[in-house]
Amino acid sequence: MIEKQIVGLAAELDALSDEPPLRRGPECSVGAFAAALGEADAAALNTALESSRITAKGIADTISRHGDPVSAFTVSRHRRRGESHGCRCPR
Ligand SMILES: [Zn+2]
Repeated sequence: MIEKQIVGLAAELDALSDEPPLRRGPECSVGAFAAALGEADAAALNTALESSRITAKGIADTISRHGDPVSAFTVSRHRRRGESHGCRCPR
């Protein structure tokens, strides 16, 4: 029975590679906010996120005035998106 289970396992693992990749998870609230922006606003937000002179709190306060409340922590995590300690938004 063990051999049969291993054969079944291999077949199932092979089948996984035929399936489309799953999303790793929902976007964070900053990513969701950014996705809803127009091109100019999204570019401005991205510039702010990339700028080390602009604090996460400043960005969080600005986003919160225009949309759902976002914390500075969430902005900081979004700035590290794609890294192991960042959010799951696409880079
Ligand atoms: Zn994010």
